Amino acid sequence: MHLGLAANQLHHSHDGAALFRWLQACEPGIRELQLGLRTVGRTYDAIMRVGRLADYVGLQRYPNGREGGLMKLVAEVVGLDQPGRVLDGAIYLVDPVDPSSIFPEAVALKRQCVIHGKPFISTVASARDWIEMERIYAGLAPDPGADEFHTLESHTLALIAHDAMKPQMLAFAAEHFDLLSRYAHRVATGTTGRRLNELAWSRGWPTERLWAQRYQSGPMGGDAQIADLVLERRCQRAIFFEDPHVARQHEADIQLLERAVTTRTDEAVCITSPAVATRWVMAARQRAVQRPCCADSPICT
Ligand code: PGA
Repeated sequence: MHLGLAANQLHHSHDGAALFRWLQACEPGIRELQLGLRTVGRTYDAIMRVGRLADYVGLQRYPNGREGGLMKLVAEVVGLDQPGRVLDGAIYLVDPVDPSSIFPEAVALKRQCVIHGKPFISTVASARDWIEMERIYAGLAPDPGADEFHTLESHTLALIAHDAMKPQMLAFAAEHFDLLSRYAHRVATGTTGRRLNELAWSRGWPTERLWAQRYQSGPMGGDAQIADLVLERRCQRAIFFEDPHVARQHEADIQLLERAVTTRTDEAVCITSPAVATRWVMAARQRAVQRPCCADSPICT
């Protein structure tokens, strides 16, 4: 498996920066998975500087951003007809006030990941969660260091789907209703939430209770309201089924929510496509069987 890897300057500027917090938590997992990391120049140089992933053959240097390193990652997420030039997803650790995080190549990297159902990983928490998920698929024992992403009973989950993606969101929620119901709270934008509550009631959820707390509809500001929950550390995971094929009048709000998640880089996870969400939920199920204490205790020992 191969991922693209880049981090905005802040996230590799000092020894305790986000990129190195991820590597500290996940270097063993990266080695176990033999994960290929095609790493944009300055990010690669920073990893060398701090001495992480020493002698790891899976770490490969791509050109600096200025020389098109990020652009090459976008093309490889799409896939090129040359041996090995395809990526399974990308980690791009975003600093929301770094202007380069909204350069066209950065926006295109996320968009092509969404279009091709590949993970676009923009936070430390998402990157740690992804490594644990792939470790579970690889048959490795759960890492207690990742328990914090599986204590669903103490977390809030946000569910949002654009119109064309609502059928997939409802199918996802129906199929995984039991696991999603384990969350302490679920929140959703207006229309998505109404449809999810109808689904939950049809599945026997008590009629006097909402399964998902509804905020405004997306175009009316629901994404911004949910972003505020993330900023206040009251929402730990967003599952956002975006439709990358239509222009939306509230694109700024959508970006706002995704960038709010990146301000909580160590705690908040964002999943942007049905393929990735399904892969995550199947791994979470398997992990709950292997490490059941996480299913009923926020503090798993
Ligand atoms: P909705 O909003 O759930 O109210 O449709 C989602 C969106 O379009 O952002």
